[in-house]
Amino acid sequence: MSEIRRHYFLNEYCIVASGRKRRPHDFVKKDKGIRTSAKDCPFCPGNESMTPPENAVYRLGSGRPWDVRCFDNLYPALNKPHGYHEVIVDTPVHDGSPAGFSDEEMNLMVEAYRDRFDFYARKEGISYVSIFKNHGREAGASIYHSHTQLIALPLMPPEIERERSIIKRLDRCPYCSIVDQESGSDRVILENREWIAFSPFYSQVPFEVWILPRRHINNITYMDQAQTSSFIRIFRDILSRLRDALEDPAYNYHFMQTIGEDYHLNIRILPRTSIRAGFELNTGVYIITVPPEDAASFLREVRGIR
Ligand SMILES: [Zn+2]
Ligand SMILES: [Zn+2]
Repeated sequence: MSEIRRHYFLNEYCIVASGRKRRPHDFVKKDKGIRTSAKDCPFCPGNESMTPPENAVYRLGSGRPWDVRCFDNLYPALNKPHGYHEVIVDTPVHDGSPAGFSDEEMNLMVEAYRDRFDFYARKEGISYVSIFKNHGREAGASIYHSHTQLIALPLMPPEIERERSIIKRLDRCPYCSIVDQESGSDRVILENREWIAFSPFYSQVPFEVWILPRRHINNITYMDQAQTSSFIRIFRDILSRLRDALEDPAYNYHFMQTIGEDYHLNIRILPRTSIRAGFELNTGVYIITVPPEDAASFLREVRGIR
């Protein structure tokens, strides 16, 4: 049985084709990439001289020199005056990753995201600030040690522009409608008073997860205390469930948000469970082999953080 599904509000489609690969275990990759040693790691404490000087550091008060450290990317995708490319090393621990963070560590990472977003959003000529993580070699991480990247652009990305051109014509924010539509649905993985995490009806990869705030905000700088503390819980819980269900998969997560234009912040996590093959490249239509309802059910069953 297969089914064509349309995106919530864009003219985009995916085909849900439940084939052979059905259970999370079928997506576990044997090759985990190469773990490099901490001694040679440019992101480990003690090796700071291997990277450009820091733009900012954030501390937990643990007595360490830093717990989150930000600096210019040594090989930037963009340089001044066209834009900025920063690396955010989100833990001093060589084998650490957000799926295993404590609330305090996750809180500090989110604080760094918010602060660095705000810093670049205020720069002259910057129209968009992209925050994303590549976890694992298959997701594009060239350095093993956990880190996030920030690229500040002098243009509005077509991905956001395409959404905004439709959103502008609608009476109601489609993401607010998605929150209503998905609350209590069989695609929900976790929800709390402030956030909902679910497997989207239209997905591009198996086990894709979207996290949406119930309250309409443009970007992470508008998160209040209640939203921040519940985001930390739900984000950490989702990442740990994906880690446990898919045995530490490679994944990308990224924040969809705007600086000034009206938009509804959303965070998307895409495990690298499949590749864009010929059909996807040819049509832009994604074939997913696990129905989002089944993916959500698997992720609900995995024991998350306690
Ligand atoms: Zn390291
Ligand atoms: Zn909204």
